Amino acid sequence: MDIRPLTGELSVAPQIAAADMQALADAGFRSVICNRPDGEGADQPTCDELERAALERGIEVRYLPAESGKVTDEQGAEFGALMAALPKPVLAFCRTGMRSTTMWALSQAGKMPLPQIIELSSKAGFDLKGVVRRIVNGGKTPVEVADATHDVVIIGGGAAGIAVAASLLARSPNLDIAIIDPADIHYYQPGWTMVGAGVFDAATTARTMASVLPRGVHWLKSAVAAFEPERDVVILDGCRVVKYQQLVVCPGLKLDWHGIEGLSETLGRNGVTSNYRYDLAPYTWQLVQQLGRDKRDAKALFTQPPMPIKCAGAPQKAMYLSADHWRRAGVLDAIDIQFCNAGAVLFGVADYVPALMEYVKAYNIGLNFGQTLLAVDGPGRKATFSRANADGSKDIITRDFDMIHVVPPQKSPDFIRVSPLSDAAGWVDIDPATLRHKTYANIFGLGDAGNTPNAKTAAAARKQAPVVAHNLLASRGAARGEAKYDGYGSCPLTVERGKIVLAEFTYGGKVAPSFPAWLIDGTRPSRLAWYLKERVLPPLYWEGMLKGREWMAQPEMVG
Ligand SMILES: Cc1cc2nc3c(=O)[nH]c(=O)nc-3n(C[C@H](O)[C@H](O)[C@H](O)COP(=O)(O)OP(=O)(O)OC[C@H]3O[C@@H](n4cnc5c(N)ncnc54)[C@H](O)[C@@H]3O)c2cc1C
Repeated sequence: MDIRPLTGELSVAPQIAAADMQALADAGFRSVICNRPDGEGADQPTCDELERAALERGIEVRYLPAESGKVTDEQGAEFGALMAALPKPVLAFCRTGMRSTTMWALSQAGKMPLPQIIELSSKAGFDLKGVVRRIVNGGKTPVEVADATHDVVIIGGGAAGIAVAASLLARSPNLDIAIIDPADIHYYQPGWTMVGAGVFDAATTARTMASVLPRGVHWLKSAVAAFEPERDVVILDGCRVVKYQQLVVCPGLKLDWHGIEGLSETLGRNGVTSNYRYDLAPYTWQLVQQLGRDKRDAKALFTQPPMPIKCAGAPQKAMYLSADHWRRAGVLDAIDIQFCNAGAVLFGVADYVPALMEYVKAYNIGLNFGQTLLAVDGPGRKATFSRANADGSKDIITRDFDMIHVVPPQKSPDFIRVSPLSDAAGWVDIDPATLRHKTYANIFGLGDAGNTPNAKTAAAARKQAPVVAHNLLASRGAARGEAKYDGYGSCPLTVERGKIVLAEFTYGGKVAPSFPAWLIDGTRPSRLAWYLKERVLPPLYWEGMLKGREWMAQPEMVG
């Protein structure tokens, strides 16, 4: 018997035999649902035969047959009703297990998030792409029409999505473009480090989505739930269907706040903060000031989760700016600062590490590599870490804190991870140079959701957007040659208020400065680089990148 668990209460299996009932009873099953019609195959026992063998062993049997490939909406609902009534755990079977899985999936529509339904089914070995629309539609077959059709559809109106739309319109002003994004507000996230240090006011990092959308772009204010790339459609929450000729996928990444036990409950209280959320960055600054004022012998923790994360420097940027404030306030000696990094190095590109180490020493920061935050107890002011030891073993350690700046684990958005567009790790599977999807030629991807091995930064999206715009138009016959992205990403490491180590690099960690070394030597702290971050980059973002003005971002051509 090939029993595949779907949930704690339900497993599915291919055809079973009466002789299997004892093994099922031994495994603890209390009910069986037969989803295969009697007589479908020559060597198949009838449901009555199975029931006789089952009853002797105290197992209940129900018959809910469905034709192969034709599970109806009603059968999905009936399956749900059976699951509610039968003693558990339940085993459902058909010829392969697919019909049982489909009925379960339909019964879960609207109760369990779609990505979870798809993921659980896929773990059991079943691909539900044929019924995704029905699940999105609450378990009911939707009417087969596209609600909207556009030449180009962009998923996500973040840094990458708006920049691509603007770059496309700069090249082809009449192009019919739709951006799908449920968010009311567009954020300039690179500003949050500065908010957490009291340099920027949080409000300057947020604008309404309506105000940043390029003129002429249609805004579909909804979330994408699923893809049907063979039919050139995406399915929105609520089952609206949008058809495209070219699709651009850039919904950013998922901050997994729930990946750390106890964190969500205490964020914004008890000294627990994070610059990775708009509403919490001001709390970072509040805590930093408080610690500088009234604490002696205080403990400040700064954490970094495993890679990849967006803006890999941001966890330590928050730390340096906090330490700088405490130094200026004359309390640095009284504060024990510990950096707990799940990774093994301070920064992924070695050229920038010496300058950073000077600050680590000056601020007397304790570096702890291989330490991954597992849990936060806000009221008890304790943080629990898993610690990787040199001999390969792991143990659990607990640290006290007065303030903890947490950077959450980060992963691909659920609806991307379970889609046909993702690679094995869950990211959008695109060519690193052309940013075209590796399987679907009319799909492109960029920004944090892509699987290109660059630093996940807005700076990367700024360079990627013109490449996608060009290559997408080339695939419509409206441009010639192929544009190529070199992996550029940038991370302005704010080592103190007024100075930045400006890390700029391409694929493979190759240092790639935008300015001559006499102006800004990226490997040394620079005042001019701080000026750039504070005064130049915000307008460059809002007025340049989001408006299709490709200042210092013209794509390189290969043909
Ligand atoms: C604290 C912090 C500091 C940073 N510092 C820097 C820095 O100094 N320099 C730098 O270059 N970068 C920095 N970054 C990183 C930068 O902000 C991101 O890399 C950049 O925003 C990525 O752009 P994106 O469009 O891929 O994703 P985002 O800008 O996050 O946008 C994603 C959009 O997709 C939408 N979306 C999500 N799911 C769906 C769905 N199902 N359907 C439709 N739409 C959806 C969201 O609503 C959102 O609008 C920082 C980030 C943080 C958090």
